[in-house]
Amino acid sequence: MKENKIKKNNRKTGFQGPDPRFANKGFSTKSVHAGENWETPDYLSPVAPIFSSTSFYYENFQSLIDMIDGQKGGYGYSRWSSPTTATLERAISSLEESGGTIACSSGMASIHLALISSGIKNGSNVLCSTDVYGSSIDLLKIFFSRFGVNPIFCDFTDLETVEENLKKYNPQVILFEVLTNPIIKVVDAPSVINLAHKYNAKVIVDNTFTTPFLFKPFLHGADFVCNSISKYLAGHGDVLAGAVSSSEENTREVQVTMAHIGSGLHGFVSWLALRGLKTFSIRMEKHCSNALELANFLEQHSLVENVSYPGLTSHKQHDLASQLLLNGHFGGMVSFDIRGGNRKDAFNFLDNLEFLIPTGSLGDVHSLIIHPASTTHHTLSGEELSKIGISESTLRISVGIEDIEDIKEEINQALLKVKNLKGSN
Ligand code: PLP
Repeated sequence: MKENKIKKNNRKTGFQGPDPRFANKGFSTKSVHAGENWETPDYLSPVAPIFSSTSFYYENFQSLIDMIDGQKGGYGYSRWSSPTTATLERAISSLEESGGTIACSSGMASIHLALISSGIKNGSNVLCSTDVYGSSIDLLKIFFSRFGVNPIFCDFTDLETVEENLKKYNPQVILFEVLTNPIIKVVDAPSVINLAHKYNAKVIVDNTFTTPFLFKPFLHGADFVCNSISKYLAGHGDVLAGAVSSSEENTREVQVTMAHIGSGLHGFVSWLALRGLKTFSIRMEKHCSNALELANFLEQHSLVENVSYPGLTSHKQHDLASQLLLNGHFGGMVSFDIRGGNRKDAFNFLDNLEFLIPTGSLGDVHSLIIHPASTTHHTLSGEELSKIGISESTLRISVGIEDIEDIKEEINQALLKVKNLKGSN
């Protein structure tokens, strides 16, 4: 008798013998099909299973059609969604408190999707903070401008300038980050969002530096919230993924856009991100407390100047940061200059580190350090760099969860070596 592969059945869960459904089939057929879809589980797994399948099917074909027509939920092709990726999306929606979330292949894919989903077209103006991630600037300047989109950049820490530009350019959408990169300035996000809406502009917030642990842009009215999951959310330096959180209605638009552009996230990567997410809040606590202690240490250090960390009372926007950021914390990113230093000093410093990793990412369990002028911001002119506050010796640390005394000692010994190297030059 033909046995349906899916229908509820009395097949024994955990059965390990030869699959009787394929007993009369050839060797190749057995190797392709035997064993699959045997169980109709009555158990639950506390951790989402990895669905690596590209496509899905149903007990009867009409169910697939009903799913495609939107009559019922489900999955057809994993470029649109898969059960593991949907688990990650629900988790991020819960943290961002948004109507929905679409996970995608990288943080940059999330910025791309949010821009397209905001409805920009040939002739649209986009008002963007000068202090966003370098690739976001390039995406607008190099690529979107080819299609007739006009990017305009201004300082989002200055509300008057933002309003002037909104009035003058009537942008379709604005894009900014709350904590800026790499000098860690603070944008008064709720005020910027209100201003943008006053001038009918949609709002995209890149929440990668803040994460929903520190700030929830959707609750302040942002239309699209982008996250690079590759950073704090996944947290272990082994995931490349992104997400766009928005209203339920916008989420559908983002999903359709994502499926057509083809930047969907594979189930295995979603599973890795979910695994990282389990410890997100305790990692954030440690990143933030380590960063505050390191910033205090650097501020006292005779070989260091221009320490920027919003948790320091010396930070110009400390009060604003205290009002905006959640959980009494100020993030895991600190920047500083080597006192009187130049590019050579900065490179010497990096070459004398023992366990701090000199690389451009952030938000990993391990501490990462980068020289912005030669890496993340190398396309900017000297004038543009100094406008942002980046000098030739500026270094940006993503403070990890190692023991803070070891991080301090690591930085101290490298600073002393730079001094010795200078002395012997
Ligand atoms: N947004 C910010 C603030 C970033 O720092 C980065 C990457 O460093 C991105 C977006 C892009 O993320 P991804 O590397 O996942 O594409």
